[in-house]
Amino acid sequence: MKLGTPLRDVLATTPYFLKTLEKAGLSTLEDLLLYFPRTYEDRSIQKSLARANLKDTVTVQGILVDKDNIRTKRGYKLLKALFRDEEGNEAEVVWFNQPHLMNMLTLGKSIILSGKLKYEQRMLSFQSPTFEYFVPGQSLVHFGGITPIYPEIDRISTEWLRKKMHDVAHHALLFEETLPEEVRKSRGLMGRGEAIRELHMPTSREQLERARYRLGFEELFLLQLAGVRRKLSFQRDAAKCAPAIPLDAEIMKEFVEQLPFQLTDHQRLVTYQILRDMERDVPMQRLVEGDVGSGKTLVAVLCAYHAIRKGGVQAAIMAPTEVLASQHYKSITALLAPWGLNVQYLAGSLTKKEKETTALGLAQGTVDVVIGTHALIQEYVQFHRLGLVVIDEQHRFGVEQRRTLAQHGFPHVLHMTATPIPRTLALTMYGDQDISLISEMPKGRKTIITRLVNPQDRQKMYYFLEDQVRKGRQAFVICPLIDESEKLEDVRAVTKEYAFLQEHIFPELKIGLLHGKMKAEEKEQIMTSFKDRKFDILVSTSVIEVGVDIPNASTIVIEGAERFGLSQLHQFRGRVGRGEAQSYCFLATDSSQKGQSQRLKAMEKYADGFRLSEIDLELRGPGEVYGIRQSGVPDLRVASLTDLPLIVEARELAEEILEKDLDLNTMPVLKRLIDGDTSYIPE
Ligand code: ADP
Ligand code: MG
Repeated sequence: MKLGTPLRDVLATTPYFLKTLEKAGLSTLEDLLLYFPRTYEDRSIQKSLARANLKDTVTVQGILVDKDNIRTKRGYKLLKALFRDEEGNEAEVVWFNQPHLMNMLTLGKSIILSGKLKYEQRMLSFQSPTFEYFVPGQSLVHFGGITPIYPEIDRISTEWLRKKMHDVAHHALLFEETLPEEVRKSRGLMGRGEAIRELHMPTSREQLERARYRLGFEELFLLQLAGVRRKLSFQRDAAKCAPAIPLDAEIMKEFVEQLPFQLTDHQRLVTYQILRDMERDVPMQRLVEGDVGSGKTLVAVLCAYHAIRKGGVQAAIMAPTEVLASQHYKSITALLAPWGLNVQYLAGSLTKKEKETTALGLAQGTVDVVIGTHALIQEYVQFHRLGLVVIDEQHRFGVEQRRTLAQHGFPHVLHMTATPIPRTLALTMYGDQDISLISEMPKGRKTIITRLVNPQDRQKMYYFLEDQVRKGRQAFVICPLIDESEKLEDVRAVTKEYAFLQEHIFPELKIGLLHGKMKAEEKEQIMTSFKDRKFDILVSTSVIEVGVDIPNASTIVIEGAERFGLSQLHQFRGRVGRGEAQSYCFLATDSSQKGQSQRLKAMEKYADGFRLSEIDLELRGPGEVYGIRQSGVPDLRVASLTDLPLIVEARELAEEILEKDLDLNTMPVLKRLIDGDTSYIPE
């Protein structure tokens, strides 16, 4: 038998089942063996009914002493049997509408029954239990100790899968060992094949734990190995390609001194880390993570300024939306133009002529900084000497998009994100980048007061909003996400909410409307009007999410708050609290589901985006929180992405191995795994 053997030559089953398995991606023995249980149940066998616990599922051994098919007065078919354990205790067994079982039940033969046990009319009674007979020379499939529960595949049951796995599990020993011998020895790790077999047929709780640990470690290790290897290979291949720009403290000092405020310590530190990176001729690959409002833009501007002045290069700053890009354009121009730098804007809404002019300036080197959207990665855009690329809100871009700008020579690349990614995930998703954190807020920021608002308190919330507006402040109302894919539905919902608020709640206030289906110019115009206080309240879909800066807005209402993830709610909340005034965030819900309000309570309690994203990650898993599929981290079968110590250990091991042998020539199995199987390679 080989692992690549097709399932039709392995399993005795029908073409229908084979097809169903194939549709689920299981076509070979290997695929089947890598289909792991979802969870386990303790189905240890008891010898006596006398000690059975009526609350739990009871698994007990004995014999059947009688059986009978009967029909109730109402016409139901019942199969009744009498069970007796070794001590002579008896229980009635009832199966409804399963007369075919009659032939499968043999009296007097040792049987295992498992199910709920009731005590009725002074009689113990099993209701439709599952059962299994002992087969001489074979171990039990469904009972006895720790029993795997498989995710069902279409109509294929966990019992069926368990039976088949039981038949083939010994082939797991065919799996090749992936981890080097000394790694396994030093950590006491179980062999790969043995561990896979153990998952399907656990011999004990301890062994199962060891098996899971081993496979989890391997998953994380391979991810880290791929990430670290890409990083080190890139550094080797791209050495001497990037502009090395010596750090010039005078240039920075001069610039920082004329800012209207003091840099925070974290801004200072991260800027320094970046400038140090750029002293090398290896392209920087750094991710700056900083909570909303922590002042990442300024860090990027400082570094761009230094690179241009000292290195004579150009800088490009890319943002995911026009609203954001144009806001950056304005604030950055205000910072850099006084120093004689030529800052330009490039986005889809410009005329062809405008785009051409900017592109020409970039190609000739007369433009120092370009700020824009995806328009920056169009083919016609060429650079004279691109030295620094900044990608703002980097998670909003696809992998290819992010790479395109970095292909103009070998510029230094700075990724920025306001979605605080827990370190565990960052190490896995961005294995090939260095990471800087800005977790300190500029001085004088007040904590935003956050409250959950139940339906009965809605009126009070509206009074409060109105009061804020009377005090000269502005407010956002964010409408619920109807469905990630159905943008039209969202537009309908937000339009309705807008009309409702305008007509019924705040007839005297000026209300604006913003949604994703609007043209870029229209959105832009609405944001500008809002900034100029032409409306009091802006009703919006989640397009408002990214870094829009309206310092006068003091209140944000998030409708249908339960539909958003914590990280996203935190992003919304960051729209307020950017000015002097005390700010408020109301999380309005229509559902009073217990788990939900518990999740939302975390918003009331924590102001720190990192803390919230950790909670989010634990509650919802990385797929939900970060759209893992897009970001390229494979679904882990065993390991948990929240297991920081294990991730760090795996990373250190990967570094240790690669520093000795970057090409993995001495470890052909590992080399093949991470070269061949792209699912191991994070982007
Ligand atoms: P984000 O990290 O969310 O991108 P921004 O860079 O947009 O945050 O900064 C938010 C606001 O804070 C901006 O108005 C910016 O001018 C201001 N800001 C940045 N750094 C400081 C600082 N050190 N002190 C005071 N305000 C600052
Ligand atoms: Mg920002």
